[in-house]
Amino acid sequence: MDVKKIVEQLIKKFGTTNPFMLANLLGIMIVYEPLGSTYGYYSKSHRIKVIHINEFLSFQKQYFTCAHELGHAILHTEENTAFLKKKTLFSTDKLEIEANTFAVELLVPDDLFFTNDSSFTIYDEIKEKGVPEELVNLKNIDGKKI
Ligand SMILES: [Zn+2]
Repeated sequence: MDVKKIVEQLIKKFGTTNPFMLANLLGIMIVYEPLGSTYGYYSKSHRIKVIHINEFLSFQKQYFTCAHELGHAILHTEENTAFLKKKTLFSTDKLEIEANTFAVELLVPDDLFFTNDSSFTIYDEIKEKGVPEELVNLKNIDGKKI
């Protein structure tokens, strides 16, 4: 599955990388709930797609969680996916890796790797969007993993 290509087409079609806006434009509901140690999960029932997000997370973590669950909603529409927890970020499960890859491709733009502005680092950008540092290596630049 070419996750990068799917993300690029999505950004081109809707003109945004904001996962909340994309969910909205795609008719996917976002529900905020108290979920304990779970960051979020995706469900589908009666044709209604829902992204569930823990209401007690920081905005940055909600941003990343929304991107990850949006990945499931688009790539794994019919699957019941596992709860996203901290340890899921390092999961070797195929669906989780694909959802993490989707989130990283969406939230970390290619341009960032080609900027000459030394005052601005990729780590500032990913921090702002809640992307765990450990996942940046899922990013694919010119067909190469970084
Ligand atoms: Zn997941």
